[in-house]
Amino acid sequence: MGRPPELSHQERLAALEKASQSRKRRAEVKAKIKRGEFSIDTVLEIAENEEAIAKMRVRELLEALTGVGKVRASTLMERLNISPTRRIAGLGRHQIKALRNEFMKSSHAPTPGKLLVLSGPGGVGKSTVATRLRATGDFWVSISATTRAPRTNEHDGVDYFFISEEEFSRKVKEDEFLEWAEFAGSRYATPRAAVQEALLAGRNVLLEIEIAGAKQVKAHLSQAILVFLEPPTWEELVARLEARGTDSPERRAERLQLAQDELAAASFFDVVIVNDQVEQVVEQLIALAS
Ligand code: 5GP
Repeated sequence: MGRPPELSHQERLAALEKASQSRKRRAEVKAKIKRGEFSIDTVLEIAENEEAIAKMRVRELLEALTGVGKVRASTLMERLNISPTRRIAGLGRHQIKALRNEFMKSSHAPTPGKLLVLSGPGGVGKSTVATRLRATGDFWVSISATTRAPRTNEHDGVDYFFISEEEFSRKVKEDEFLEWAEFAGSRYATPRAAVQEALLAGRNVLLEIEIAGAKQVKAHLSQAILVFLEPPTWEELVARLEARGTDSPERRAERLQLAQDELAAASFFDVVIVNDQVEQVVEQLIALAS
């Protein structure tokens, strides 16, 4: 080992925090493997995008699989020439292929679900559509993180994960978000791991996010279907924003200006749906995912 880097107190704390988050994440994934929710394929895929999982030891991964105890894990690793301390990130292409083959019969990796991204001007009724869609059970709806304060009727972990500016910045730095954007003075983001897990588990996923974020998702995951929800008329949108009593008048005026800019972005989207009737929108979205 070379000399450890010279770290400031702050950097040391950040490094410790990161290590602890990674450990928790590995424990979470191992628990899912043990419960049979994750196959070896799923974990290898997650490891391609997530540093914490890429650093999981191969031995730990194998031992978590049902029916693979310490003995079978070490015999297998010896046979495939995988050193006992090797981490997933250090596996060679042939070793990955061999591991996949070895467990092919026992892994029931489902077909990945579809990813729908619902965007549109603020006030168009995206969240109502998302709530109805969640209730149908056909979609897993992502819960975003935001730095904005909760409105009176909102709950942490249900409507959003309400986090501080510092926590948001840390998560951006550690690449925990699939996308993030600033909107009306606050920051919003989609947590990456939960979306990825739902897709790999075969669930259809809905993100209800603003336009800049939707574009980022498409750039990372080209299979994403971008849906733009349009108000039946501009007047209708103004009326809806006006009726939103939870925002201050300045905030509402700001949102109206934003909505105007957002409407101009519709052409970028794969599908445009007019929000005449929520039930119809929900049906169209379910059809898009099937
Ligand atoms: P609100 O503050 O009214 O809940 O949301 C404001 C805007 O942020 C809405 O257009 C909503 O779709 C968007 N938004 C919510 N979550 C996310 C997210 O995770 N990422 C991005 N880019 N936008 C989001």
